Amino acid sequence: MTTGTNAATVFCAGCDAERGTREETRTQALSVRGEPIAVVGQVLVCLACGQDITDPVRDDEVLVRAYNVYRTRHGLLLPREIRALRERYRLSQRAMAKLLGFGLITIQRYEAGALQDAAHDQLLRCFADPKTARAIADRHRGDVSPRQWQLFDQAAQAAADGKPIRPEVVPDLPTTDWETLATAVRYLVSRAAQRHLMVSRTKLLKLWWLADFLHFRSFARPITDVAYVALPRGPVPDRYKDYLWQLEDKGEIEEVETPYGPYEGYEYRVVDRESGESLAPTERACIEAVVDHFGSLSAAELSAMSHHEPLWPTFEADGRVPYEAAADLKMLDGLAEEARDRL
Ligand SMILES: [Zn+2]
Repeated sequence: MTTGTNAATVFCAGCDAERGTREETRTQALSVRGEPIAVVGQVLVCLACGQDITDPVRDDEVLVRAYNVYRTRHGLLLPREIRALRERYRLSQRAMAKLLGFGLITIQRYEAGALQDAAHDQLLRCFADPKTARAIADRHRGDVSPRQWQLFDQAAQAAADGKPIRPEVVPDLPTTDWETLATAVRYLVSRAAQRHLMVSRTKLLKLWWLADFLHFRSFARPITDVAYVALPRGPVPDRYKDYLWQLEDKGEIEEVETPYGPYEGYEYRVVDRESGESLAPTERACIEAVVDHFGSLSAAELSAMSHHEPLWPTFEADGRVPYEAAADLKMLDGLAEEARDRL
């Protein structure tokens, strides 16, 4: 059955040329784990020679459909059920993988539609029971950050009590350039570590803000280009919780419990990675200047400093902290020259 003719041409191996195509809806016989499964799917056909044209996207759709038939037949969890299970416990993919003893790729593939093996499916089903989940996860407790464990523990407890907590869904973030953002934050954290400076959550947010504003003041553009808002403790990236969540989830930085320190009891670290390799020299210089200049101050001291800025009352008024304010920040006086000297 023909369902349509495509205007755009596609390369046909039979003709060895670009050809017009049409889509055919066809029942296809597939074999999933040795079991024959018939699914209806779209096939691309060459208008000139009539041959089927291989198309990875359509093939994937057909395969996922076949997997879902197989899952339903054998009582395996669907990809969206696996995802919902994870979100119910407020786990990132990375944290869920750690708590189950899976690889991160494994969870990512399952949620994307790859067919789980039977043993993994059984473990995931056990994980659906909050009490059992707690017992399974407890064996890998040391593999996730204390904060992640706390989120999981609260969610599992609430589910066990029959009062499930709404999942923490991370929406798409309004950053134009995730790679630069991640590299900059990683570099900031590792620079501080080199200097034996502790970077708590609040302190990271402060230094991030100062580095962006210093770069804007010195070179007329920010580094990470996130929006900043005024919170009671001073300017921070808008939606910083989502950014930190993603940075941790993608393994860019991790939050670990510190054995010392009067601040928050947690600090950020960079694990097993080169940092700063893809930053521009001006970006590196501003991050270094900010870390070296402010890194030894506590989060509370940095908050106090931002509150002493003459502009602070205007930030508080409308919530936004515009980049244009960088020129008038007393905290950055002298640092622009210092950043340029580092080049
Ligand atoms: Zn052809």
